[in-house]
Amino acid sequence: MPEGQFNFIIIGGGSAGAVIASRLSEDPSCKVALVEAGGHPPERERIPMATATLQCDPEVDWMYRANPGKAGRGMKDGRMFLPRGKMLGGSSGMNYMAYVRGHPGDFDKWESLGADGWSYDRVLPYFKKSERFNATNAVSIDPESHSGDGPLGVSVRSPVLPPSLQFISAAMASGIPEGDYNGADRRNPAGVVSLFHTTTEKGQRSSTYHAFLEGTAETRDNLTIVTKAHVTRVLLDGEGDTLRASGIEYEDSTGKRHRIQAAKEVILSAGAIGSPHILLLSGIGPRRELEFAEIECRLDSPHVGKHLKDHLLLGMIFDAPGVGIPLGQAGL
Ligand SMILES: Cc1cc2nc3c(=O)[nH]c(=O)nc-3n(C[C@H](O)[C@H](O)[C@H](O)COP(=O)(O)OP(=O)(O)OC[C@H]3O[C@@H](n4cnc5c(N)ncnc54)[C@H](O)[C@@H]3O)c2cc1C
Repeated sequence: MPEGQFNFIIIGGGSAGAVIASRLSEDPSCKVALVEAGGHPPERERIPMATATLQCDPEVDWMYRANPGKAGRGMKDGRMFLPRGKMLGGSSGMNYMAYVRGHPGDFDKWESLGADGWSYDRVLPYFKKSERFNATNAVSIDPESHSGDGPLGVSVRSPVLPPSLQFISAAMASGIPEGDYNGADRRNPAGVVSLFHTTTEKGQRSSTYHAFLEGTAETRDNLTIVTKAHVTRVLLDGEGDTLRASGIEYEDSTGKRHRIQAAKEVILSAGAIGSPHILLLSGIGPRRELEFAEIECRLDSPHVGKHLKDHLLLGMIFDAPGVGIPLGQAGL
């Protein structure tokens, strides 16, 4: 296959993109390009306690600001910050590492609405294939729902802090049973309480970069990872029913534009903001809005760029004399 031509091009090497790049390139006959706007994660990304320092750092955060809606009345300048990771691993490199699978009922509902293959029973093998759960006595585990063999490190903080145990006891005293919230107990009508399972291993963050790309996958001959490359649009061939994505255009860190081609598929995994943004720049979105922005409409798709839901992030810090730990021990 000539230079600049791939079977698959993946836009965005974040939570989703890093996994897809790793899985597709397991097949040596498959030539894959992963194109990411950020670079490799900085060293402190590994330290769970350093999470907050990654947000609002333009090296690794897209620095988005948003209208907080009704939830954010009283916020300074009426704006909230909306952190989004810009690095290999994407937002999994700056999130709070809570490992919480989707609710089984949601998956089952999707399948009942026609998303064949998306029931919880059908996706559970993939959760297990991904996970390397580190055995612990600190939580109750439903063994049918977990695996210790996958690439994504999942564990429970050790040592467990006394206030965390007090929180569990208080929940149980109020009638919420203790159990595995990533297992069968998730369907319990009374809910379930547990210490957090986190995407960490031996006290370090397990982002999708570390879990799926670092080391083995990133050195494969058939996987080309292009970093500091800002994708500006998906290249489209044909029109109407024959419209298909044939490649992408991106800008490197010097501002030079490049085009690469995909024989099979372009996979858009640039996140909840980046993906619709790239679609709009490519001419896929509400016709009137595209025309207003002087972008040729290739596909009138009224819902692109709409319906984003997020939550306000607000930290509340309290003194806890006698029950906390010194900052130096946090994250161990
Ligand atoms: C502060 C914070 C805390 C969170 N805490 C948790 C938590 O504790 N538990 C949990 O389950 N979830 C948490 N989340 C949510 C979770 O991290 C995200 O839902 C998930 O990472 C989204 O994955 P994604 O692949 O869709 O996007 P991302 O992981 O954001 O990946 C998108 C990638 O695309 C790249 N990209 C975007 N545009 C372009 C472009 N034009 N060209 C090239 N590359 C581009 C980005 O740089 C990024 O690397 C948190 C998120 C944040 C921001």
